[in-house]
Amino acid sequence: MINVSHMSKKYGDLEVLKDVNCQIRKGEVISIIGPSGTGKSTFLRCLNLLEVPAGGSIEIDGVDILSKEANVPKLRQKMGMVFQSFNLYEHLSVLNNLTLGPIKLLGKSKDEAKRRGFELLKMVGLEEKADSYPDELSGGQKQRIAIARCLAMEPEIILFDEPTSALDPTMVSEVLSVIRRLAKDGMTMAIVTHEMEFARNVSNRIFYMDEGVIYEEGSPEEIFQNPQKEKTKTFINRIRSFHYDINSDSFDFYGMNGEIKSFCEKYLSPKLVQKILLLTEELIAIYKPPMELDFDYFEKIDKLIIKVTSINELPSPLEDKLGVDDISRAIINNFTENIKEECINGKNSISMEIKSI
Ligand code: ADP
Ligand code: MG
Repeated sequence: MINVSHMSKKYGDLEVLKDVNCQIRKGEVISIIGPSGTGKSTFLRCLNLLEVPAGGSIEIDGVDILSKEANVPKLRQKMGMVFQSFNLYEHLSVLNNLTLGPIKLLGKSKDEAKRRGFELLKMVGLEEKADSYPDELSGGQKQRIAIARCLAMEPEIILFDEPTSALDPTMVSEVLSVIRRLAKDGMTMAIVTHEMEFARNVSNRIFYMDEGVIYEEGSPEEIFQNPQKEKTKTFINRIRSFHYDINSDSFDFYGMNGEIKSFCEKYLSPKLVQKILLLTEELIAIYKPPMELDFDYFEKIDKLIIKVTSINELPSPLEDKLGVDDISRAIINNFTENIKEECINGKNSISMEIKSI
C-alpha cells in the first residue's frame, strides 16, 4: 500500500531523515519506536505531506505522491492523522467536529454525516457527548473524539503520533483500547508510541528509528526479545533514571517529592507512586542527610530500584538498629524486596527493588 524509498529530510543543516526505506501493507499495524529526536514525527509528517521530503519517493497504491501530477488533497485524505495534542475544533460541538470534514470535503449530506458521526461516537464509547464541547471533555475523551473524527474522513491508513503522550496516566488505556479495536477491525495504522507493551501486543511489525533511518525492523518478538543491532538493544533494555541529592536536613522536601512523583508517574501506577513517596520519606528519616537517592526504572522488566548512597554507614533498614520503629520497618518490608548493601569508593549504598503490587 505504501512504499517509501530513500526518503530524506533536512531542517537547515540538520539531516533528520537520511535514507528511510519501508513498505506498509494493507491491514498492517506498524509501531514506530525510538529515542526522541530521531525523526519519528518527521517521518509521519513526510508520509502525509505535512512536510515535503528532500529526496526519495513515496508511493501509495503505486502512485508517486511526490510527483507534480499527484493529487495531494486526495492522497492526504487517504491518510488520517492523530496527534498528541488532539487538535479538535474548540468552538464546535463534538458532533460538529465529526461532521465538518465529511460535509465540506467528502460532499456528504448533513444527515448522512450526522448518522455516521453517531456511529463513530458509539464506537469510541462517547455517544452521549455528541453535544458537548471539547473543553468539557477529559484528555482521554478528547483523544477518542480525535480518532472518531479521523475515521469520519474514511481514511485508508491512520498515522498516530504519540497519541497517549499528553494524557494523564489513568486515561492512556481508554485510548489504547480504541486503537486496539481498530487494529482488530483490520485498519492499516502506523503508530509512533512510547507504550512498549502496547506496541508489542498490537503490532505486526516494529520499526526502530535511529540515526535518520529505520535502523532495525522486525516482528514484535524479534525487536523486543531478540534485537540484533547495538542501538536497538540499548533502547529496548533501557533504564530510566532519576537522581536526587539531599545535602542537608533543610532540603526542599516538597520540591523533591514533586520531582520523584513526576518521574515515577511516567512509568508506574498512581498507587505505586504513593507507596514510593512514603517509602522515600521513611528512608530519609532512617538514614539522615546528606545522602543521594537514585531511582532506576527498568522498562523491559517493569521494575523500579531505589538506591540510597551515603558516606555514612547504612545498615540494612530491616535490622534492629538505628532506632527504626516498627511502622518504618513494616513499610520497607511490605514495599520492597531484594535489599542489597554495597560499598564502592568509600561510599555506602543500599538498594531495594519495589514490589510491583
Ligand atoms: P521525534 O518525533 O523522533 O522525537 P522529530 O521528528 O520531532 O523527532 O524531530 C527530529 C529532529 O528534527 C529533532 O532534532 C528536531 O529538533 C528537528 N525538527 C523537527 N521539526 C523541525 C522543524 N520544523 N524545524 C527545525 N527542526 C525540526
Ligand atoms: Mg515526535
